[in-house]
Amino acid sequence: MTEESWGQVRDELLKAVGRSNYTTWIEPLQFTELTEGVARFNAPTGFFATWVERNFADLIRQHLARNGEAVDRLEFTVHQPAPRPTSATVARRAPARSGDEGETLSAPLDARFTFDTFVVGKPNELAHAAARRVAEGGPVSFNPLFLYGGVGLGKTHLMHAIANEMQSRKSNLRVLYLSAEQFMYRFVQALRERQIMDFKEMFRSVDVLMVDDVQFIAGKDSTQEEFFHTFNALVDQNKQIVISADRAPGEIKDLEDRIKSRLQCGLVVDLHPTDYELRLGILQQKAEFYRQQYSGLVLADGVVEFLAHRITTNVRVLEGALTRLFAFASLVGREITLDLAQDCLADILRVSDRKVTIEEIQRKVAEHYNVRLSDMIGPKRVRTIARPRQIAMYLAKQLTPRSLPEIGRRFGGRDHTTIMHGVRRIEELMAQDSQMAEDLQLLRRLLES
Ligand code: ADP
Ligand code: MG
Repeated sequence: MTEESWGQVRDELLKAVGRSNYTTWIEPLQFTELTEGVARFNAPTGFFATWVERNFADLIRQHLARNGEAVDRLEFTVHQPAPRPTSATVARRAPARSGDEGETLSAPLDARFTFDTFVVGKPNELAHAAARRVAEGGPVSFNPLFLYGGVGLGKTHLMHAIANEMQSRKSNLRVLYLSAEQFMYRFVQALRERQIMDFKEMFRSVDVLMVDDVQFIAGKDSTQEEFFHTFNALVDQNKQIVISADRAPGEIKDLEDRIKSRLQCGLVVDLHPTDYELRLGILQQKAEFYRQQYSGLVLADGVVEFLAHRITTNVRVLEGALTRLFAFASLVGREITLDLAQDCLADILRVSDRKVTIEEIQRKVAEHYNVRLSDMIGPKRVRTIARPRQIAMYLAKQLTPRSLPEIGRRFGGRDHTTIMHGVRRIEELMAQDSQMAEDLQLLRRLLES
Protein backbone atom coordinates (compact mmCIF):
# COMPACT_ATOMS: atom_id res chain seq x y z
CA MET A 1 0.00 0.00 0.00
CA THR A 2 1.23 3.47 -0.77
CA GLU A 3 0.80 6.60 1.30
CA GLU A 4 -1.57 7.68 -1.42
CA SER A 5 -3.89 4.73 -0.96
CA TRP A 6 -3.75 5.09 2.81
CA GLY A 7 -4.81 8.68 2.14
CA GLN A 8 -7.82 7.36 0.27
CA VAL A 9 -8.70 4.97 3.08
CA ARG A 10 -8.43 7.87 5.50
CA ASP A 11 -10.86 9.92 3.43
CA GLU A 12 -13.34 7.08 3.71
CA LEU A 13 -12.73 6.69 7.42
CA LEU A 14 -13.45 10.38 7.87
CA LYS A 15 -16.89 9.79 6.42
CA ALA A 16 -17.39 6.66 8.48
CA VAL A 17 -16.38 7.97 11.92
CA GLY A 18 -17.13 11.69 11.65
CA ARG A 19 -14.86 14.69 11.81
CA SER A 20 -14.15 14.73 15.51
CA ASN A 21 -13.29 11.03 15.87
CA TYR A 22 -11.26 11.33 12.76
CA THR A 23 -9.18 14.25 13.96
CA THR A 24 -8.63 12.65 17.34
CA TRP A 25 -7.92 9.06 16.39
CA ILE A 26 -7.30 8.53 12.72
CA GLU A 27 -5.41 11.57 11.52
CA PRO A 28 -2.51 11.17 13.98
CA LEU A 29 -1.90 7.60 12.80
CA GLN A 30 1.11 7.38 10.59
CA PHE A 31 1.11 4.52 8.15
CA THR A 32 4.53 2.90 7.88
CA GLU A 33 4.24 -0.35 6.00
CA LEU A 34 2.11 -3.26 4.95
CA THR A 35 3.73 -6.66 4.69
CA GLU A 36 2.32 -10.14 4.81
CA GLY A 37 -1.10 -9.05 5.87
CA VAL A 38 0.09 -6.82 8.72
CA ALA A 39 -0.42 -3.08 8.41
CA ARG A 40 1.85 -1.05 10.66
CA PHE A 41 1.25 2.37 12.02
CA ASN A 42 2.98 4.81 14.28
CA ALA A 43 0.76 6.07 17.09
CA PRO A 44 1.57 8.98 19.40
CA THR A 45 0.99 7.12 22.71
CA GLY A 46 0.37 3.66 24.07
CA PHE A 47 -3.07 4.64 25.25
CA PHE A 48 -3.84 5.97 21.83
CA ALA A 49 -2.78 2.72 20.20
CA THR A 50 -4.93 0.63 22.54
CA TRP A 51 -7.93 2.83 21.96
CA VAL A 52 -7.64 2.72 18.19
CA GLU A 53 -7.07 -1.01 18.32
CA ARG A 54 -10.22 -1.58 20.39
CA ASN A 55 -12.49 0.85 18.64
CA PHE A 56 -11.40 1.30 15.10
CA ALA A 57 -9.29 -1.67 14.07
CA ASP A 58 -12.15 -3.57 12.42
CA LEU A 59 -13.34 -0.54 10.59
CA ILE A 60 -9.87 0.29 9.35
CA ARG A 61 -9.42 -3.27 8.14
CA GLN A 62 -12.75 -3.16 6.33
CA HIS A 63 -11.85 -0.01 4.51
CA LEU A 64 -8.43 -1.32 3.63
CA ALA A 65 -10.09 -4.40 2.20
CA ARG A 66 -12.54 -2.30 0.25
CA ASN A 67 -9.55 -0.61 -1.34
CA GLY A 68 -8.04 -3.92 -2.28
CA GLU A 69 -5.59 -4.28 0.63
CA ALA A 70 -6.04 -7.57 2.41
CA VAL A 71 -4.96 -7.04 6.01
CA ASP A 72 -5.25 -9.59 8.81
CA ARG A 73 -3.91 -7.48 11.59
CA LEU A 74 -2.97 -3.94 12.51
CA GLU A 75 0.11 -3.21 14.54
CA PHE A 76 0.93 0.01 16.30
CA THR A 77 4.29 1.36 17.30
CA VAL A 78 4.50 4.25 19.69
CA HIS A 79 6.66 7.18 18.78
CA GLN A 80 6.95 10.79 19.88
CA PRO A 81 5.59 13.23 17.37
CA ALA A 82 8.06 15.66 15.88
CA PRO A 83 8.39 18.85 17.91
CA ARG A 84 6.65 21.86 16.49
CA PRO A 85 9.03 23.53 14.10
CA THR A 86 10.01 26.83 15.61
CA SER A 87 13.26 28.64 15.06
CA ALA A 88 14.15 28.01 18.70
CA THR A 89 13.89 24.28 18.15
CA VAL A 90 16.09 24.48 15.14
CA ALA A 91 18.72 26.49 16.94
CA ARG A 92 19.03 23.89 19.68
CA ARG A 93 19.37 20.98 17.31
CA ALA A 94 22.56 19.16 16.61
CA PRO A 95 24.54 20.22 13.55
CA ALA A 96 23.18 19.16 10.21
CA ARG A 97 23.70 15.64 9.07
CA SER A 98 25.24 15.64 5.67
CA GLY A 99 23.54 13.67 2.96
CA ASP A 100 21.89 14.22 -0.33
CA GLU A 101 18.18 13.73 -0.45
CA GLY A 102 17.83 15.06 -3.93
CA GLU A 103 16.99 11.84 -5.65
CA THR A 104 14.49 10.74 -3.07
CA LEU A 105 12.61 14.01 -2.92
CA SER A 106 10.04 13.11 -5.52
CA ALA A 107 7.34 10.66 -4.58
CA PRO A 108 7.35 7.55 -6.79
CA LEU A 109 5.27 7.80 -9.93
CA ASP A 110 2.73 5.15 -10.73
CA ALA A 111 3.64 3.85 -14.17
CA ARG A 112 0.02 2.89 -14.85
CA PHE A 113 -1.12 6.47 -14.54
CA THR A 114 -0.51 7.70 -18.07
CA PHE A 115 -2.50 9.59 -20.65
CA ASP A 116 -3.02 6.32 -22.48
CA THR A 117 -4.90 4.82 -19.59
CA PHE A 118 -6.88 7.95 -18.85
CA VAL A 119 -10.36 7.77 -20.33
CA VAL A 120 -11.59 11.14 -21.52
CA GLY A 121 -15.22 12.20 -21.33
CA LYS A 122 -17.27 15.36 -20.93
CA PRO A 123 -16.61 15.72 -17.19
CA ASN A 124 -12.83 15.69 -17.50
CA GLU A 125 -12.05 16.85 -21.02
CA LEU A 126 -10.88 20.32 -20.04
CA ALA A 127 -8.65 19.06 -17.26
CA HIS A 128 -7.27 16.45 -19.60
CA ALA A 129 -6.58 18.98 -22.37
CA ALA A 130 -4.83 21.32 -19.95
CA ALA A 131 -2.75 18.48 -18.55
CA ARG A 132 -1.75 17.44 -22.06
CA ARG A 133 -0.71 20.95 -22.89
CA VAL A 134 1.52 21.15 -19.83
CA ALA A 135 3.00 17.73 -20.55
CA GLU A 136 4.09 18.87 -23.99
CA GLY A 137 6.55 21.02 -22.14
CA GLY A 138 6.39 24.00 -24.47
CA PRO A 139 6.65 27.55 -23.23
CA VAL A 140 4.83 27.97 -19.95
CA SER A 141 1.50 29.46 -20.88
CA PHE A 142 -0.37 29.20 -17.62
CA ASN A 143 1.15 29.00 -14.22
CA PRO A 144 0.14 27.24 -12.15
CA LEU A 145 -2.18 24.67 -13.62
CA PHE A 146 -4.62 24.12 -10.81
CA LEU A 147 -6.70 20.93 -11.01
CA TYR A 148 -9.47 20.37 -8.56
CA GLY A 149 -12.32 17.98 -8.00
CA GLY A 150 -13.78 15.44 -5.59
CA VAL A 151 -12.13 12.26 -4.39
CA GLY A 152 -11.32 9.61 -6.94
CA LEU A 153 -12.01 11.65 -10.05
CA GLY A 154 -8.53 11.39 -11.52
CA LYS A 155 -6.47 14.30 -10.19
CA THR A 156 -3.56 12.18 -9.11
CA HIS A 157 -3.80 10.11 -12.25
CA LEU A 158 -3.51 13.23 -14.41
CA MET A 159 -0.60 14.60 -12.42
CA HIS A 160 1.32 11.35 -12.72
CA ALA A 161 0.46 11.28 -16.41
CA ILE A 162 2.00 14.73 -16.84
CA ALA A 163 5.11 13.72 -14.93
CA ASN A 164 5.45 10.40 -16.74
CA GLU A 165 5.02 12.03 -20.10
CA MET A 166 7.47 14.85 -19.43
CA GLN A 167 10.05 12.46 -18.13
CA SER A 168 9.74 10.23 -21.17
CA ARG A 169 10.08 13.18 -23.51
CA LYS A 170 13.06 14.62 -21.73
CA SER A 171 14.71 12.32 -19.28
CA ASN A 172 16.96 14.98 -17.79
CA LEU A 173 14.07 17.23 -16.89
CA ARG A 174 13.76 17.61 -13.14
CA VAL A 175 10.13 16.88 -12.43
CA LEU A 176 9.27 16.90 -8.78
CA TYR A 177 5.94 15.36 -7.81
CA LEU A 178 4.81 15.06 -4.23
CA SER A 179 1.76 15.44 -2.05
CA ALA A 180 1.35 18.54 0.08
CA GLU A 181 1.63 16.25 3.07
CA GLN A 182 5.01 15.06 1.90
CA PHE A 183 6.02 18.63 1.23
CA MET A 184 5.25 19.45 4.81
CA TYR A 185 6.97 16.36 6.11
CA ARG A 186 10.14 17.17 4.18
CA PHE A 187 10.00 20.75 5.30
CA VAL A 188 9.68 19.86 8.97
CA GLN A 189 12.40 17.29 8.61
CA ALA A 190 14.68 19.84 7.00
CA LEU A 191 14.03 22.25 9.84
CA ARG A 192 14.77 19.58 12.37
CA GLU A 193 17.94 18.50 10.72
CA ARG A 194 18.98 22.04 9.96
CA GLN A 195 19.03 21.47 6.26
CA ILE A 196 16.63 24.18 5.41
CA MET A 197 19.02 25.78 2.96
CA ASP A 198 19.39 22.49 1.12
CA PHE A 199 15.67 22.12 1.16
CA LYS A 200 15.12 25.54 -0.35
CA GLU A 201 17.78 25.06 -2.94
CA MET A 202 16.44 21.66 -3.86
CA PHE A 203 12.94 22.89 -4.44
CA ARG A 204 14.06 25.94 -6.30
CA SER A 205 16.18 23.96 -8.72
CA VAL A 206 13.45 21.80 -10.22
CA ASP A 207 12.03 22.37 -13.69
CA VAL A 208 8.53 21.29 -12.85
CA LEU A 209 6.93 21.18 -9.44
CA MET A 210 3.75 19.26 -8.79
CA VAL A 211 2.02 19.34 -5.45
CA ASP A 212 -0.95 17.04 -4.98
CA ASP A 213 -3.79 17.68 -2.52
CA VAL A 214 -2.64 21.13 -1.56
CA GLN A 215 -5.68 21.60 0.70
CA PHE A 216 -3.64 19.63 3.20
CA ILE A 217 -1.42 22.60 4.06
CA ALA A 218 -4.40 24.78 4.99
CA GLY A 219 -3.99 25.88 8.58
CA LYS A 220 -0.36 24.75 8.74
CA ASP A 221 1.20 28.15 8.93
CA SER A 222 4.91 27.65 8.57
CA THR A 223 4.43 25.10 5.79
CA GLN A 224 2.16 27.50 3.92
CA GLU A 225 4.73 30.20 4.26
CA GLU A 226 7.47 28.00 2.86
CA PHE A 227 5.21 26.75 0.09
CA PHE A 228 4.41 30.32 -0.86
CA HIS A 229 8.07 31.26 -1.18
CA THR A 230 8.94 28.14 -3.15
CA PHE A 231 6.00 28.79 -5.41
CA ASN A 232 6.96 32.39 -6.07
CA ALA A 233 10.59 31.57 -6.68
CA LEU A 234 9.64 29.01 -9.31
CA VAL A 235 7.09 31.24 -11.01
CA ASP A 236 9.73 33.95 -11.20
CA GLN A 237 12.03 31.53 -12.98
CA ASN A 238 9.19 30.64 -15.32
CA LYS A 239 9.11 27.04 -14.15
CA GLN A 240 5.88 25.10 -14.54
CA ILE A 241 3.86 24.36 -11.45
CA VAL A 242 0.94 21.96 -11.23
CA ILE A 243 -1.26 21.87 -8.18
CA SER A 244 -4.25 19.77 -7.24
CA ALA A 245 -6.82 20.15 -4.52
CA ASP A 246 -10.20 18.80 -3.58
CA ARG A 247 -11.82 22.20 -4.13
CA ALA A 248 -11.28 25.53 -5.85
CA PRO A 249 -8.52 27.78 -4.47
CA GLY A 250 -10.99 30.31 -3.11
CA GLU A 251 -12.86 27.62 -1.22
CA ILE A 252 -9.97 26.17 0.72
CA LYS A 253 -10.46 27.26 4.29
CA ASP A 254 -7.51 28.43 6.36
CA LEU A 255 -5.41 29.06 3.33
CA GLU A 256 -3.81 32.48 3.29
CA ASP A 257 -5.40 34.93 0.91
CA ARG A 258 -2.19 35.74 -0.86
CA ILE A 259 -1.72 32.03 -1.60
CA LYS A 260 -5.28 31.72 -2.82
CA SER A 261 -4.85 34.57 -5.20
CA ARG A 262 -1.51 33.22 -6.38
CA LEU A 263 -3.09 29.87 -7.10
CA GLN A 264 -5.84 31.54 -9.10
CA CYS A 265 -3.37 33.31 -11.33
CA GLY A 266 -2.91 30.46 -13.74
CA LEU A 267 -5.46 28.12 -15.21
CA VAL A 268 -7.98 26.66 -12.80
CA VAL A 269 -9.89 23.65 -14.11
CA ASP A 270 -12.15 21.23 -12.36
CA LEU A 271 -12.88 17.57 -12.83
CA HIS A 272 -16.63 17.15 -12.70
CA PRO A 273 -18.34 14.13 -11.22
CA THR A 274 -18.43 11.30 -13.72
CA ASP A 275 -21.37 10.77 -16.05
CA TYR A 276 -22.69 7.49 -17.32
CA GLU A 277 -20.71 7.52 -20.58
CA LEU A 278 -17.42 8.18 -18.83
CA ARG A 279 -18.03 5.46 -16.29
CA LEU A 280 -18.90 3.07 -19.04
CA GLY A 281 -15.74 3.98 -20.93
CA ILE A 282 -13.56 3.48 -17.88
CA LEU A 283 -15.20 0.16 -17.05
CA GLN A 284 -14.81 -1.10 -20.58
CA GLN A 285 -11.14 -0.23 -20.56
CA LYS A 286 -10.52 -1.95 -17.24
CA ALA A 287 -12.66 -4.94 -18.15
CA GLU A 288 -10.55 -5.40 -21.26
CA PHE A 289 -7.44 -5.38 -19.12
CA TYR A 290 -8.88 -7.96 -16.73
CA ARG A 291 -10.11 -10.16 -19.54
CA GLN A 292 -6.51 -10.51 -20.59
CA GLN A 293 -5.32 -11.11 -17.06
CA TYR A 294 -7.91 -13.72 -16.24
CA SER A 295 -8.18 -15.33 -19.61
CA GLY A 296 -11.11 -17.67 -19.86
CA LEU A 297 -13.39 -15.60 -17.67
CA VAL A 298 -16.64 -14.67 -19.35
CA LEU A 299 -18.22 -11.31 -18.73
CA ALA A 300 -21.93 -11.45 -19.54
CA ASP A 301 -23.57 -8.72 -21.58
CA GLY A 302 -25.00 -5.88 -19.61
CA VAL A 303 -22.78 -6.19 -16.55
CA VAL A 304 -20.57 -3.16 -17.25
CA GLU A 305 -23.64 -1.12 -18.16
CA PHE A 306 -25.26 -2.16 -14.92
CA LEU A 307 -22.21 -1.11 -12.92
CA ALA A 308 -21.92 2.18 -14.77
CA HIS A 309 -25.53 2.91 -13.88
CA ARG A 310 -25.36 1.89 -10.30
CA ILE A 311 -21.96 2.96 -9.03
CA THR A 312 -21.95 6.69 -9.34
CA THR A 313 -19.72 7.70 -6.43
CA ASN A 314 -16.27 7.82 -7.96
CA VAL A 315 -13.85 6.06 -10.24
CA ARG A 316 -11.88 4.45 -7.46
CA VAL A 317 -14.96 2.67 -6.16
CA LEU A 318 -15.88 1.71 -9.69
CA GLU A 319 -12.46 0.16 -10.23
CA GLY A 320 -12.58 -1.56 -6.87
CA ALA A 321 -15.91 -3.13 -7.79
CA LEU A 322 -14.58 -4.51 -11.04
CA THR A 323 -11.43 -5.82 -9.39
CA ARG A 324 -13.43 -7.62 -6.77
CA LEU A 325 -15.82 -9.02 -9.33
CA PHE A 326 -13.09 -10.52 -11.47
CA ALA A 327 -11.18 -11.86 -8.50
CA PHE A 328 -14.31 -13.46 -7.11
CA ALA A 329 -15.43 -14.95 -10.40
CA SER A 330 -12.03 -16.45 -11.04
CA LEU A 331 -11.98 -17.90 -7.55
CA VAL A 332 -15.32 -19.62 -7.90
CA GLY A 333 -14.80 -20.30 -11.60
CA ARG A 334 -18.05 -18.78 -12.73
CA GLU A 335 -19.19 -16.51 -15.49
CA ILE A 336 -19.63 -12.89 -14.43
CA THR A 337 -23.37 -12.39 -14.66
CA LEU A 338 -25.67 -9.71 -13.35
CA ASP A 339 -26.66 -12.00 -10.51
CA LEU A 340 -23.08 -12.62 -9.54
CA ALA A 341 -22.39 -8.89 -9.64
CA GLN A 342 -25.38 -8.17 -7.47
CA ASP A 343 -24.30 -10.74 -4.88
CA CYS A 344 -20.66 -9.94 -4.88
CA LEU A 345 -21.07 -6.17 -4.79
CA ALA A 346 -24.13 -5.88 -2.56
CA ASP A 347 -22.42 -3.52 -0.12
CA ILE A 348 -21.17 -1.14 -2.78
CA LEU A 349 -24.45 -1.18 -4.65
CA ARG A 350 -26.42 -0.40 -1.54
CA VAL A 351 -24.35 2.70 -0.84
CA SER A 352 -24.76 3.84 -4.40
CA ASP A 353 -28.51 3.26 -4.50
CA ARG A 354 -29.71 5.78 -6.94
CA LYS A 355 -32.47 8.27 -6.54
CA VAL A 356 -34.20 8.82 -9.83
CA THR A 357 -34.87 12.44 -10.73
CA ILE A 358 -37.64 13.86 -12.89
CA GLU A 359 -35.04 15.26 -15.27
CA GLU A 360 -33.56 11.82 -15.76
CA ILE A 361 -36.97 10.37 -16.42
CA GLN A 362 -37.71 13.04 -19.01
CA ARG A 363 -34.37 12.45 -20.66
CA LYS A 364 -34.72 8.68 -20.81
CA VAL A 365 -38.27 8.80 -22.08
CA ALA A 366 -37.43 11.40 -24.71
CA GLU A 367 -34.52 9.24 -25.84
CA HIS A 368 -36.64 6.12 -25.92
CA TYR A 369 -39.41 7.66 -28.04
CA ASN A 370 -37.06 9.74 -30.07
CA VAL A 371 -38.55 13.09 -29.23
CA ARG A 372 -36.79 16.25 -28.12
CA LEU A 373 -36.17 16.77 -24.44
CA SER A 374 -37.61 20.28 -24.81
CA ASP A 375 -40.86 18.76 -26.05
CA MET A 376 -41.23 17.01 -22.72
CA ILE A 377 -41.88 20.34 -21.08
CA GLY A 378 -43.09 22.24 -24.13
CA PRO A 379 -46.70 22.91 -25.22
CA LYS A 380 -47.07 20.62 -28.28
CA ARG A 381 -50.17 18.47 -28.19
CA VAL A 382 -49.66 16.03 -31.07
CA ARG A 383 -50.03 12.46 -29.94
CA THR A 384 -46.43 11.45 -30.82
CA ILE A 385 -45.23 13.97 -28.27
CA ALA A 386 -48.08 14.14 -25.80
CA ARG A 387 -48.03 10.39 -25.18
CA PRO A 388 -44.35 10.14 -24.24
CA ARG A 389 -44.86 13.20 -22.07
CA GLN A 390 -47.65 11.43 -20.20
CA ILE A 391 -45.47 8.39 -19.81
CA ALA A 392 -42.79 10.55 -18.24
CA MET A 393 -45.41 12.04 -15.91
CA TYR A 394 -46.54 8.57 -14.91
CA LEU A 395 -42.97 7.45 -14.21
CA ALA A 396 -42.25 10.62 -12.26
CA LYS A 397 -45.21 9.84 -10.05
CA GLN A 398 -44.17 6.21 -9.65
CA LEU A 399 -40.45 6.55 -9.19
CA THR A 400 -39.97 9.80 -7.30
CA PRO A 401 -41.46 11.06 -4.06
CA ARG A 402 -42.60 14.31 -5.74
CA SER A 403 -46.17 15.56 -5.40
CA LEU A 404 -48.40 16.23 -8.39
CA PRO A 405 -47.98 20.03 -8.20
CA GLU A 406 -44.20 19.58 -8.00
CA ILE A 407 -44.22 17.30 -11.00
CA GLY A 408 -46.43 19.81 -12.81
CA ARG A 409 -43.84 22.51 -12.24
CA ARG A 410 -41.11 20.35 -13.76
CA PHE A 411 -43.24 19.74 -16.83
CA GLY A 412 -43.21 23.34 -17.93
CA GLY A 413 -45.47 24.64 -15.18
CA ARG A 414 -48.45 22.44 -15.88
CA ASP A 415 -51.35 22.22 -13.48
CA HIS A 416 -51.48 19.24 -11.11
CA THR A 417 -54.78 18.13 -12.66
CA THR A 418 -53.00 17.77 -16.01
CA ILE A 419 -50.45 15.49 -14.38
CA MET A 420 -53.17 13.46 -12.70
CA HIS A 421 -54.97 13.08 -15.99
CA GLY A 422 -51.76 11.94 -17.70
CA VAL A 423 -51.03 9.38 -15.01
CA ARG A 424 -54.56 7.95 -15.25
CA ARG A 425 -54.41 7.80 -19.01
CA ILE A 426 -51.24 5.74 -18.93
CA GLU A 427 -52.69 3.40 -16.31
CA GLU A 428 -55.66 2.78 -18.60
CA LEU A 429 -53.46 2.21 -21.62
CA MET A 430 -51.25 -0.21 -19.75
CA ALA A 431 -54.26 -2.28 -18.85
CA GLN A 432 -55.40 -2.44 -22.47
CA ASP A 433 -52.19 -2.54 -24.42
CA SER A 434 -49.52 -5.10 -23.63
CA GLN A 435 -46.98 -3.30 -25.81
CA MET A 436 -47.42 -0.20 -23.68
CA ALA A 437 -47.07 -2.22 -20.49
CA GLU A 438 -43.87 -3.76 -21.74
CA ASP A 439 -42.47 -0.42 -22.78
CA LEU A 440 -43.06 0.94 -19.34
CA GLN A 441 -41.50 -2.09 -17.73
CA LEU A 442 -38.39 -1.54 -19.78
CA LEU A 443 -38.17 2.17 -19.06
CA ARG A 444 -38.67 1.54 -15.41
CA ARG A 445 -35.89 -0.98 -15.32
CA LEU A 446 -33.56 1.33 -17.20
CA LEU A 447 -34.24 4.12 -14.76
CA GLU A 448 -33.96 2.02 -11.66
CA SER A 449 -30.87 0.12 -12.59
P1 ADP B 1 -8.05 11.65 -7.12
O1 ADP B 1 -6.60 11.95 -7.04
O2 ADP B 1 -8.82 12.70 -7.86
O3 ADP B 1 -8.68 11.33 -5.79
P2 ADP B 1 -7.15 9.37 -8.62
O4 ADP B 1 -6.38 10.05 -9.67
O5 ADP B 1 -6.38 8.72 -7.54
O6 ADP B 1 -8.26 10.35 -8.00
O7 ADP B 1 -8.11 8.30 -9.33
C1 ADP B 1 -8.66 7.20 -8.63
C2 ADP B 1 -8.58 5.97 -9.49
O8 ADP B 1 -9.46 6.12 -10.59
C3 ADP B 1 -7.21 5.74 -10.06
O9 ADP B 1 -6.95 4.36 -10.06
C4 ADP B 1 -7.31 6.26 -11.47
O10 ADP B 1 -6.46 5.56 -12.35
C5 ADP B 1 -8.75 6.01 -11.81
N1 ADP B 1 -9.29 7.00 -12.74
C6 ADP B 1 -9.84 8.19 -12.43
N2 ADP B 1 -10.25 8.84 -13.53
C7 ADP B 1 -9.96 8.02 -14.57
C8 ADP B 1 -10.14 8.12 -15.99
N3 ADP B 1 -10.70 9.19 -16.56
N4 ADP B 1 -9.72 7.08 -16.75
C9 ADP B 1 -9.16 6.00 -16.19
N5 ADP B 1 -8.96 5.83 -14.88
C10 ADP B 1 -9.35 6.84 -14.06
MG1 MG C 1 -5.35 12.06 -5.39
